[in-house]
Amino acid sequence: MKKVAIVGAGPAGMFAAHELAQHSLEVVVLDMGKPVSDRNRNEPFDLLHGMGGAGTFSDGKVNFHPQIGGNLYEFLREDEAWSLMDHIEQIFRKYDVDVIPTDNERTRDLERRAAKCGVSFLPIRQAHIGSDHLTELIEAMGRELERAGVQFRFGKRVVDIVREDGAVRGVVLEDGEVVQADFVLLAPGRVGSEWVGRLALEHSLDVTYNPVDIGVRVEVPSIVMEEVIDISYDPKLYVRAPTYDDRVRTFCVSPEGFVVKEVYRDEGAVGVNGHSLRDVKTGNTNFALLTSINLTEPVESTTAYGISIARLATTIGGGKPILQSLGDLRRHRRSTWGRLRKSPGDVVPTLMDVTPGDISMALPHRIVTDLVEALEMLAGVIPGLDADRTLLYALELKRYATRLRTDLRLQTQLKGLYVAGDGAGVARGIAGAAATGEIAARGIIASLG
Ligand SMILES: Cc1cc2nc3c(=O)[nH]c(=O)nc-3n(C[C@H](O)[C@H](O)[C@H](O)COP(=O)(O)OP(=O)(O)OC[C@H]3O[C@@H](n4cnc5c(N)ncnc54)[C@H](O)[C@@H]3O)c2cc1C
Repeated sequence: MKKVAIVGAGPAGMFAAHELAQHSLEVVVLDMGKPVSDRNRNEPFDLLHGMGGAGTFSDGKVNFHPQIGGNLYEFLREDEAWSLMDHIEQIFRKYDVDVIPTDNERTRDLERRAAKCGVSFLPIRQAHIGSDHLTELIEAMGRELERAGVQFRFGKRVVDIVREDGAVRGVVLEDGEVVQADFVLLAPGRVGSEWVGRLALEHSLDVTYNPVDIGVRVEVPSIVMEEVIDISYDPKLYVRAPTYDDRVRTFCVSPEGFVVKEVYRDEGAVGVNGHSLRDVKTGNTNFALLTSINLTEPVESTTAYGISIARLATTIGGGKPILQSLGDLRRHRRSTWGRLRKSPGDVVPTLMDVTPGDISMALPHRIVTDLVEALEMLAGVIPGLDADRTLLYALELKRYATRLRTDLRLQTQLKGLYVAGDGAGVARGIAGAAATGEIAARGIIASLG
């Protein structure tokens, strides 16, 4: 029986195993983390490693759309991509995940209103699993995979691949053990992306670069966003900012949520992110407003560019994220705590460990212009979004992993070596990671003839 070694038990690895287990293949999943029941959300290592991967302790917002969280059209025809998304959704449904019902008439109305303001609203089937249910779901899926013969090995860090005669032959673990395999699927998530980059270098595999998304976290009173969130839990809105004709989008809307600090430890920089809790609500809603930067010549690594901006923002913020009101940004003056808390109607920040300042000192003029123009356009659909009191936290940075060059089935230049998920730069979300895991698994199955 042919053997497949999967590196990573996140959504990409688990969904690949799910597909492979239905064929006559021996499947072993290697992960340096723990089984989901042993993971402790308060331990930094457990937060991102182990069964279920990075999404285990997340909000579990799953977007069933081929162009959200990656772009499946790069590998599949449009109808095939939709059919794959339906398949992923059906698997989630098996574990009692329900798609949030949508009111078609109100959705259509929002699309119409948005279109009139030059804004595109992308209606998406979404599920909100919630962190409590996520761990149960992952445990149930893990049990089903084990019953189907998939072997999980936890606490096993893969450090290298074995290659022989132009094909992959297995992987090497940190303790020196060699796991022989006819196919290897690398699905190590964002935490493993640098390792994938190193492997590419050591094994002379071609890489391509993904764009970087840079912007701010916007925070407004919840009531401003209420109507839109009622129609779509995580509304995806896109504009083309007129001055530079750049695409700007909303991302990761956190209703009644918190803005949180994100530390890029290795790069010596800080940024922001946001999340909602089920039990603790705030009076604010936040979301990321991002513009995509895709450099070509002479710099290709947009990540390096993004990090240099993050470092500048960190320097100006004295090691903390910068907070500014939109009114102060428009008036070309820094925010101060006094200005931010002047009147009772002002938005009370949910993240206080910040430096009130001037984000235009940190972000390039082009990005600041894009963001202000985008907020003004979006206010046509969400009145109040461009009010002076709207808070902007800098910097929100979304970097994507260096991407290995692959064929349409996600096989790299090395025969038998496949990639999937966030770590290989082909996905950026739970459903996208799961879908690329499926594509790679189907590629492996197809190669069996
Ligand atoms: C706080 C947070 C909230 C999020 N919220 C959402 C959300 O609401 N909706 C959404 O769609 N997405 C969300 N995401 C993103 C989502 O979690 C990821 O897109 C998804 O988990 C990627 O899946 P993956 O399988 O590619 O990798 P991961 O889930 O990162 O899993 C990779 C696994 O590989 C293991 N691994 C890495 N390197 C090695 C190695 N060398 N040897 C052995 N094992 C290794 C890791 O331990 C890990 O378990 C969130 C992410 C975070 C961090």
